[in-house]
Amino acid sequence: MVKVLVATSQTQGVRASDYHWCVDGELVWIAPICGKDWEDPDGGCGCARGFAGLNSHRATTTAMVRTLALDRDDYVEAIRSSLDSQGYDTMLSPEIADALLELISDLPDGAVVEHRAEYVQVRERAP
Ligand SMILES: [Zn+2]
Repeated sequence: MVKVLVATSQTQGVRASDYHWCVDGELVWIAPICGKDWEDPDGGCGCARGFAGLNSHRATTTAMVRTLALDRDDYVEAIRSSLDSQGYDTMLSPEIADALLELISDLPDGAVVEHRAEYVQVRERAP
């Protein structure tokens, strides 16, 4: 079992800059942020507040912490295959997976989180 981030529509609209193009429940990761949005997470690009869907290749501003019946290797493979299908270098997949696992390791299952440039923070507990 690992605790991972999945796309959720919960709490969408709390921020005026919210968007949700992912499929609910799909695994998400945090893609590299472009220079333009680094200082303004509510900026025009949207990447500094987004989580990227591993399957849909789209993005959302809200993600939920979920404990899933995967192990770390499954999670690394999910990230690797997504990066591969998008034409990205997959070499860092294990590091990306471990960084994400570490990032949310202290958060409770069901927590809804948002991404603000260098931070990921809890937005609201699920009911
Ligand atoms: Zn950007």
